[in-house]
Formats: sequence, structure tokens, C-alpha cells
Amino acid sequence: MNATIDASLRQRAEQHLRSAPPAGVPPSVGDLQTMVEELHVYEAELQIQNEELIASRAQIEESRKRYFRHFDLAPVGLIRLTSEGLILEANILAAQMLGVNRNLLQKGVRPFLAHVAPDSLGAFKQHLESALASGEMEMCELMLRSNGGTETFMRMQSVVSSGEGETVDFYTTLTDLTERRGIEKELERQKILADAAIASKELFFAMLSHELRTPLTPLLSLVYELSADPGRSLEDQAALAIMRRNLDLEIHLIDDLLDLTRTTSGKLDLHFGVTDLHLSLANAIEICRDDIIAKGLELECEFESVSHFVNADAGRLQQVFWNLIKNAVKFTSAPGRLTITTRSHGDSQVIIEFRDTGLGIAAEPLRHIFDPFFQVDPAVKQSIGGLGLGLAICKSITKAHGGELSASSAGLGTGSTFSVALPVVPSPASPASPASPASPAIRCNGLRLLLIEDHEDTRLVLARLLR
Ligand code: ADP
Repeated sequence: MNATIDASLRQRAEQHLRSAPPAGVPPSVGDLQTMVEELHVYEAELQIQNEELIASRAQIEESRKRYFRHFDLAPVGLIRLTSEGLILEANILAAQMLGVNRNLLQKGVRPFLAHVAPDSLGAFKQHLESALASGEMEMCELMLRSNGGTETFMRMQSVVSSGEGETVDFYTTLTDLTERRGIEKELERQKILADAAIASKELFFAMLSHELRTPLTPLLSLVYELSADPGRSLEDQAALAIMRRNLDLEIHLIDDLLDLTRTTSGKLDLHFGVTDLHLSLANAIEICRDDIIAKGLELECEFESVSHFVNADAGRLQQVFWNLIKNAVKFTSAPGRLTITTRSHGDSQVIIEFRDTGLGIAAEPLRHIFDPFFQVDPAVKQSIGGLGLGLAICKSITKAHGGELSASSAGLGTGSTFSVALPVVPSPASPASPASPASPAIRCNGLRLLLIEDHEDTRLVLARLLR
């Protein structure tokens, strides 16, 4: 609007000059009348301009007040500092944070340094230097001390701006992090306590399982040794088989409980290496071979002709395969079949399937099959044994290998399929064998063996076996 008025005024003034009579010639009455009219118009225009100026000044005043309201009521402390660190301006919150009267702060005589805790002085100076050097918004965290002596942990963000003349000012925000820091410290404390509780639980289970397992080990060795004698009566053999089965079960339960505490706390101690999958499967099958034969089940292995290598803890992976085979054998009766297949899934995965023609699993229990301590039928459990931990542990182990374990069944009487999907790795020049390398034959002639075992019965049985 003002620009339009200025332009028209100028145009008319120029027009007037061009049409004005040469200097020295007195203006005519007509010219004078025109000039008076123009003066009136000009006066009116000035009046309008004046009113507009007054209106925009009021607007500026209003927005200045609004700015100060926002400045004062901002939910963070706002201050303006000179390059020497004197406070030029502070909003209400900043004044409260520093515990000083805001009117005193506004006088620009109070050094901000007076409020920085001694330990944070270095951080504060460094912060201003960084803001000055980068010209960007910089951030630091420091401890401030109010006039009343209260210490608060603050986040400070500053940016430089040109002040009066050659000087620069810092525009700084202060955010009180004391409460957040308190919460963080409390969380940290609780985490330490929780970790300690988990560690002591693990230690407790480790000690307990050691205590429970130790007396069983010599017993089991003796039972195996006694069972190996072919001259025993059928009755004795049957009794020894019962002892062996129950001792085996007991030892596995103890191991499962220990594994469960480790897997749930994510502290399974895994030692990864490139592992030949088919070899690992063959080892697991070998462990179960006697049971498969004893139950009169058929075993079919449909392994893909190419080798698959996975990055695995060989022992743990074998534990998963062994568990799935053992379950299939447990829940399948003759005439029945267990089929183990391997197949590539894309370039990056291999799927191992354990399919049985046994009992099968109904839809509802299938949903909970991997829950710890879950058993489909406690009556079956009574006769077969087990705590319902095997599958939960297998799932955790598979996950720790970057894989997935899933189960499917069309319902009771239809058999079950357990699938393990694992990421494959390129075949190595010479893969690490999952089985321990064949130990060289130990020749004891003329040698003395030193056997160290602190549990006396175990030591006696081992010595007996060695002899
Ligand atoms: P446990 O450690 O006691 O052997 P698992 O976690 O291995 O228990 O298995 C839990 C339950 O899942 C078993 O009690 C059984 O009811 C069911 N289950 C597991 N595998 C099979 C299978 N192949 N066929 C039918 N049921 C199965």
C-alpha cells in the first residue's frame, strides 16, 4: 500500500515538473489552484501513511509482547549470554533454575559461570567454544548450582548470533534432566540388581545340578558296565535296563533345568564354527539308533545331495536334532516311520524336517508346544517321563543360531512334523567336524594314568572302568 502511494506521488511530481512553466515565469492562477489541490491530496496521503504507521507500530508492539510471553512461559530455560558469559536475558524458568531474581538477571551483570558446578566448568567452556567455532547449535550436559545451593543436571543447547556492534551473543536453552537422570540411575540400579538375581539364580541352578548329577554319574557308569555282561539272566538284564532308563532320564532332567535357566537369561554359552549339517544329523541319528530299532520303527533319510554348512555350536545343534528324533520315537509306535529330510530354501537357508507317523498333536496344544513345562497329555508324561522342557530349549537354541523351529500336525493320529530352518554359510576349505576328532588309540602299557576327580564314588567307578 505504501509503495503504491509513493509511486503515484512520484509520478505525479514528475508530471508536474515536466508541465511546469520555465523558471522565472510566475505561475498562473490555474497552476496555483492545481498545486493547492495536489497539496491537499498529498496531505491526505500523508495522513493515511501516518495512520498505517501507527497501526503497524501497534502490531509490532503486540507481537513483541507475544514474543515475550512465549519467551517467559517457555517450558525450557532460555537465556542470552555475552561472549564473556554474562547473562543479558533470562526467561522465568531460567531464573527459577538458577534461583535468582529475574530483574537482577536482566541487568546483565551476573556471570553464568557463577552457577556452573566446579566439575562442569571445563564442559561449559568447551561448549561455548564449540558453538562459536561451528556456528551450529551445540549441546552439552552439565551440573548447575542454583543460588540456594541445589544442584541440577542440565542439558544446555547454544547457538551464536551477532550481538551489538562487533560482539556475538549466545542464545541458550536449559533443560532440566535431573528427574530423567534419577530415573535412569534407578533403572540402572534395578538392572544391576536383576542381573545379580539372574546370575545368582544361574549359579544356584549350576550348583544344584552339579550336586544332583554327581552321585548319579558313578551309578550310571556302573549300571552300563553291569549291563554289558552277556552272562546275566534275563531278569537281571530287565532290572538293569529299568535302572539305566531312569538314571538317564534323571540326568537329562537336571541338564534341561540348567539349560532352561541359561536359555531364558540368554546366557547359553555357544561356540560357533562352520558345521556340516548332514554329519551333525548323522551323529544325532546314531545316538537314537538303538531306540529306533528297539521300537521297531522305520527310518528314512532323504538328504539333499549337496552338502549344507551352517555356523553353529556343533554340540548344541546336535542336541536339537537328537531331541526332535527322540520325541518322534517316543510318540510313534510300530508300525511307524520317521522321515528326516533336508532341502535348500532359496540361497540362504536350509530346512531340516523331522516327520513321524505317530500320535500327532491337536490344534490347541500345538499352539503351546514350545512353552516351557508344557505337556500335551500329563498321563502320557507319567508313563514316558520328561518335564516338557525339551522343545522350549530346542527353540531357544535354534533362535540363537539365527534360525526358526516350527511344528505342524493335522491332529491326533496323523503324525507330526518339526521343521528347523537355519541360515547356511559357504562351504569352508575344511569344515570343522561336529564330532570330536577321532582320538588316537591310547596305549597304556608301561604308563601310569593320573585320575583327578573330587567325588569319591565317581573316582572309584572311573578307576574301575579304566582298569
Ligand atoms: P520333554 O522335554 O518332556 O520331552 P518336550 O518339550 O520335548 O518335552 O515335548 C513337549 C510335549 O510335546 C510332549 O510331552 C508331547 O506331548 C509333545 N510332543 C513333542 N514331540 C512330539 C511328537 N513328535 N509327536 C507328538 N507329540 C509330541
